[in-house]
Amino acid sequence: MGPQGAGKGTQAARLAEVFGIVPISTGDIFRTNIAGETELGKLAQEYTNKGDLVPDEVTNEMVRDRLGQPDVKDGFILDGYPRNAAQVTELDQILAGLGWELDGVIELTADRAELLSRIARRAQEEGRDDDTEEAIARRLDIYAEQTAPLTSAYRERNLLVQVDGLGEIAEVTDRIVASLATQLG
Ligand code: ADP
Repeated sequence: MGPQGAGKGTQAARLAEVFGIVPISTGDIFRTNIAGETELGKLAQEYTNKGDLVPDEVTNEMVRDRLGQPDVKDGFILDGYPRNAAQVTELDQILAGLGWELDGVIELTADRAELLSRIARRAQEEGRDDDTEEAIARRLDIYAEQTAPLTSAYRERNLLVQVDGLGEIAEVTDRIVASLATQLG
């Protein structure tokens, strides 16, 4: 977990390499579907462009389907899911059904000024449709209102590892790996 610009996608991909597990990014799945102009993509685009969350029924079904595929059975890292309380419940149910448990939840933190400058840079480099000023503001608001509060539930379950997302990419990865070892054992 982490606000937009905190480096979730980058770190999720690196951690997947380090641990030999599969990265699953809900944002990437939506973007692939949007690019391929699938039914899911057309539906998702109405929401992603505005910076709104795609409805839970759609996102949950997509994650359930992805976690049912054979390549994830030796481990996975979710990037961008769960993002609200209903998705936390859904994820618990999906994992219970598969007989799996979460090993940990990583929260990447960064101050708002740094986040805004990173997103502005990304907007120039990648030209993502949802990196408009309005959509970014909306995503940051939704993160603060709906996603950030979820960390306390995971903290109570002794799953939460908070890591400072500021610094060089490799440095942050090392920090996450070290924190996972010291905080979760
Ligand atoms: P960011 O973290 O910068 O918002 P993501 O790539 O994680 O970027 O997500 C892009 C968009 O995809 C979100 O703004 C939202 O519309 C949609 N999305 C991604 N994950 C979810 C989710 N778990 N629930 C609902 N919508 C999602």
